[in-house]
Amino acid sequence: MSTPTGFMEYKRELAVDRDPLERIKDWEEFHLHMSEEQLRTQGARCMDCGTPYCHTGIELAGSVSGCPVNNLIPEWNNLIYRGRWKEALDRLHKTNNFPEFTGRVCPAPCEGSCTVGLIGDPVTIKSIEQAIIDKGFEEGWVVPNPPQMRTGKRVAVVGSGPAGLAAAAQLNKAGHTVTVYERADRIGGLLTYGIPTMKLDKGIVQRRVDILEAEGIEFVTNTEIGKDIEGPQLVADFDAVVLCGGATKPREVAIEGRELNGVHLAMDYLNGTIKSYLDSNLEDGNYISAKDKNVIVIGGGDTGTDCVATALRHGCKSVTQFGTVAKAPLERDAINNPWPQFPHVYTLDYAQEEAKALYGEDPRAFSVLTKKFVGDENGNLKELHTVQIERYIDESGRKIYKEIPGTEKVWPADIVLIAIGFEGPESTLIDQFGLEQDRRTNIKAAYGKYTTNVDKVFAAGDIRRGQSLIVWAINEGREAAREVDKYLMGSSVLP
Ligand SMILES: Cc1cc2nc3c(=O)[nH]c(=O)nc-3n(C[C@H](O)[C@H](O)[C@H](O)COP(=O)(O)OP(=O)(O)OC[C@H]3O[C@@H](n4cnc5c(N)ncnc54)[C@H](O)[C@@H]3O)c2cc1C
Ligand code: SF4
Repeated sequence: MSTPTGFMEYKRELAVDRDPLERIKDWEEFHLHMSEEQLRTQGARCMDCGTPYCHTGIELAGSVSGCPVNNLIPEWNNLIYRGRWKEALDRLHKTNNFPEFTGRVCPAPCEGSCTVGLIGDPVTIKSIEQAIIDKGFEEGWVVPNPPQMRTGKRVAVVGSGPAGLAAAAQLNKAGHTVTVYERADRIGGLLTYGIPTMKLDKGIVQRRVDILEAEGIEFVTNTEIGKDIEGPQLVADFDAVVLCGGATKPREVAIEGRELNGVHLAMDYLNGTIKSYLDSNLEDGNYISAKDKNVIVIGGGDTGTDCVATALRHGCKSVTQFGTVAKAPLERDAINNPWPQFPHVYTLDYAQEEAKALYGEDPRAFSVLTKKFVGDENGNLKELHTVQIERYIDESGRKIYKEIPGTEKVWPADIVLIAIGFEGPESTLIDQFGLEQDRRTNIKAAYGKYTTNVDKVFAAGDIRRGQSLIVWAINEGREAAREVDKYLMGSSVLP
């Protein structure tokens, strides 16, 4: 236990990020750390409640509750309180291969289910996680640790996002010879191309990739399985194949005017900027610029939020983010959203905080449905037509959206970014391997087993569960590695 009464003596504190008006002038990370003394005090707030919901990682009412990689949170809170950082790092690495990613971008379902949060403000778990791993790197404690011996078995991992990297790391640890194939020019999946640099610096991704490489994992970029190497060929060449290709098929809007110049998919917008920034510090101009433009982002999730932050850094004239859901309450609804469920409450994410600092208000418009895009005589987007909607649940429990008459509105727009999610994995590999799909078109493989209908072929991460979270991808990559190890060796000591 940290201190028995710490949660009563100390208030919850969070690291103060860089000033929003300063940070939108560059593409550097906005995260800052608390001092060691502050972190120690925050660790002391953990009451070691005996049944720590914070590390359960279960789904409740459609959302995650607790940490999906089952981080040993009370243990490292206690160690931080006692100043035993190196031991805290060892504990953290036991369950999470990449705390430097989750410590920065995880939505922290652990905090939503923290027992202190039942009667007050939860422990600052995510900031402590980031501080432990960042100190680990600063102190030189995170070093390559190659396996003592090799099994002679060869495993191919397709896709280098968090699921593929976690699977590769664990399989390599078990002594298998691992090759990771990635079709992009850089390793990292959505950690690299997807999440913008200000939320996750790409040097931090590369630093981990360098360690994995030094541990013996081979990375092959610019190689698409299904095109550059046929799927069946891969199965013939390796003892097992783990598919971690993500859920990359974008969801489209099928409304009038979609073809107009200026209407873009969010991922084209985000990735163009990231690549141009990494290649040339945006000098090559190979990206969609929002400079001096009125920008509308359709979609209220992480992708939409990242579009808002990117548009601000491009120097947009205005930015608005549409969502179909209603504004969340300030405090969790004790009846419909009780602890330890993930709290659905109104918060400002980093991009909305930045837009508010610049323009004076939250850029989000809630309960908005886009009806059509309208262009000028040259086919350039000019405006969006919307209507307010309300949601209700019908007798069969289905969510129904009803348009509210008289709420029609016209919004001037030069650029629209469509960020309404993903429809599952692409079909090339699925067709080539003859893989079964579930009803949401993801690859069919049971959670905890990861075996597909094709012998030797496993699937993990978004390609199996649909668009999700980094922490779930790490969880699935780790677990799939254990199943592959069992398949190859008959048993496994991997966690
Ligand atoms: C813009 C955006 C922001 C997000 N922000 C957050 C966030 O803040 N926090 C959070 O927890 N989650 C966030 N997510 C979700 C998170 O990034 C994903 O859930 C996670 O990356 C999934 O990991 P994965 O390894 O399964 O797949 P991915 O990260 O999608 O990686 C799949 C990789 O496989 C490669 N690939 C696909 N097919 C092939 C093939 N045939 N051959 C070779 N390579 C192939 C792809 O190029 C890609 O690199 C965000 C997602 C997006 C799109
Ligand atoms: S990985 Fe996410 S859920 Fe788990 S401890 Fe870290 S912030 Fe919390």
